[in-house]
Order: sequence, then structure tokens, then C-alpha cells
Amino acid sequence: MNIRIGNGYDIHQLAPERALILGGVRIPHERGLLGHSDADALTHALMDAMLGALCLGDIGHYFPPNDPQWKGADSIVLLTQVHELVRSHGWQIGNLDAVIVAERPKLKPHIPAMRDRLATALGIERDRVGIKATTNEKLDATGREEGIAVHSVALLVRAEQETFEF
Ligand code: MG
Repeated sequence: MNIRIGNGYDIHQLAPERALILGGVRIPHERGLLGHSDADALTHALMDAMLGALCLGDIGHYFPPNDPQWKGADSIVLLTQVHELVRSHGWQIGNLDAVIVAERPKLKPHIPAMRDRLATALGIERDRVGIKATTNEKLDATGREEGIAVHSVALLVRAEQETFEF
């Protein structure tokens, strides 16, 4: 089989005195995501989708939240390590897609910067990185602004099929 698909999900609580970082982009907001690393839920969900596509476990396996070396970690650095793992298994990214569920702040103005940051970190074209944002219509934890969640998928293709057009 020359293509593999994986899905990813992540959610982090919103808390005061934390930076809000999504897709490696710092977004102005009065609260940010709480976590051991920089709590970049978008990047985490994408990493899990990439790992899931190859049945390589999840990010908690590679970057345990109780390991002090990942405290405050830049998730983009972790993403490049996961990408390296994917490549070492002979696969490359076909495309990634994600939807961020956040009641506030408005994320639409920041999506181009997120796509750029992720595509650059992965060394792929920006049109392989889809990011969308939606509110949860004030429903549940994300709707009450208790946190921000992200759903994602990753399609991987065998590296030798780099120029394969579908
Ligand atoms: Mg996470």
C-alpha cells in the first residue's frame, strides 16, 4: 500500500498568564493554553495524525508529559522530530488538514501564518497544509471557552512516489 491515513485530536485548557500558541504562531489573547510543553494543540493533533498513519503510537510515547526535558518545549521542534521519524520509515506527507474548535479569539486572521509556519517547518508546500477554525456554538467545554480542541488528519505517501500525481 502506498498511502496511509491517520487522525489526531488534542484539547488543552485555557488559562491566564499563558501564551496562546497554535501552529507555532503566537496569537494575542487574554489567556493561553495550559500544558507541560507550549500546549500547541494544533501541532500536537497534527503530530498524532502523522504517527497514527504509520501505527507508531502517539506523542505521549515520544514526549512524555512528565519528562522535564519537554517542559515549555516548542512543539514545532517536536513536530520536526516526528516528521523525521515518518521519513525514516520511508514515508512523506501527502497533505495535512485540521479544524480548530475555539469560541474565541477569532482565528481566521492567523490561519495564513499558521499554514506558513507549519509548511516551512515540514519543508512542504503551503497548499499541503489545510487549517480551518470553527466555534462550538457556545456548546460544551470549548463553547464555554474552557479550552481549545483540534481535530486533524494526515495523508502519507511512500517517499519513492514523491512525484506521483493523483
Ligand atoms: Mg497536547
